[in-house]
Amino acid sequence: MRDTFLPFSKPCITEAEIAAVGDVLRSGWITTGPKGAQFESDLKAYTGAKDVVCMTSETSVMQTLVRAIGLGPGDEVITPSMTWVSMVNITALCGATPVFVDCDKDTLMITAEAIEKAITPRTKLIVPVHFAGAILELDKIREVAARHNIMLLEDAAHALGGEFKGEKIGKKGHVMFSFHPIKNITTGEGGMFATDDQALADRMRSLKFHGLGVDAYDRQTHGRAPQAQVVEPGFKFNLPDMQAVLGIGQLARVDEMNRKRGEIMNCYLDKLAGIEELIPLKRPDYDFVHAHHLMVVRLDIDKAAMSRDDFMSELKKRNIGTGLHFRCVHLQKYYRETMNCQRGMLPNTEYNSDRILSLPMFPDMTEQDLNDVVDAIKDVLKK
Ligand SMILES: *Cc1c(COP(=O)(O)O)cnc(C)c1O
Repeated sequence: MRDTFLPFSKPCITEAEIAAVGDVLRSGWITTGPKGAQFESDLKAYTGAKDVVCMTSETSVMQTLVRAIGLGPGDEVITPSMTWVSMVNITALCGATPVFVDCDKDTLMITAEAIEKAITPRTKLIVPVHFAGAILELDKIREVAARHNIMLLEDAAHALGGEFKGEKIGKKGHVMFSFHPIKNITTGEGGMFATDDQALADRMRSLKFHGLGVDAYDRQTHGRAPQAQVVEPGFKFNLPDMQAVLGIGQLARVDEMNRKRGEIMNCYLDKLAGIEELIPLKRPDYDFVHAHHLMVVRLDIDKAAMSRDDFMSELKKRNIGTGLHFRCVHLQKYYRETMNCQRGMLPNTEYNSDRILSLPMFPDMTEQDLNDVVDAIKDVLKK
């Protein structure tokens, strides 16, 4: 058994990136400024998006966007329940109704067919998730959204660097990313909105900073302070330079870090192939580039004669950390009670919610670390 704890994720940060953060701290300008502007322009160049707006988290992007499109009571938002709680919470907070759609049993993503069945005259927004770095079947989903004239908002928290049929995620449509420490790149906390709709980008930029026409850096550098006025009430979600500068360094290495993640994932798939109690996700067979965000497996709880939670705690006793992406949202206390959600509503989601776990995977992980995980798994399963 290994003698140090292996976390399931760990940010990969270089000394040069740490030094760059120090430079910003010493520079006299630490909030949103030149580094924020450069990070946004680097993200635009990387994704090919028409415009990007950085914020303090992806959840901030969601909150700003629902305000921008005027989402409110009576409106419905189509979302998976197999997701992080952010979009469902933001929907509930503005008085709109989340409409949960069951995921595919083996990719954990929602399909165009399932989305279409959930559409009603009240549907205002569709928010599917690119899961674990695999990419949604975007052409079919876009076609359904367009035919019903409903806004599509991709949750690409797991998908920076991913591509669908040769097109980088973020290049087209409205797409949100997260720079939380476990994601493919990090700014400590942070997020961005990428869009090909310039008017919407401008509105988001204003709404994320008090609803002023300009942000602090604009005011400082262009001397527009006296003219800055609230055009509509907004939030305070700007990403400071001390964080953006970390993102600049991280983004320059995203392809290299994703490649390492991919190698680790392939190595896991190899080594776990003989362990029938662990079932990996299915890789969709259409053309896409995987962002290799999470190594998700399902525990066959009958064969293992053990619950997933017990399996995770047995691994922890052996110094192996794991994650859970995700505990389904519709059965969490608030949604169960306020929306009367019950077990049986979303069979594929519930099946997976009881069986999934995420194994350690991060760019700096060593072969020894990976072997330790596999050994611990075999030990728990008495192999
Ligand atoms: C991490 C994550 C988010 C939230 O991102 P934050 O930057 O923490 O707000 C949203 N959706 C999914 C699927 C995520 O994994």
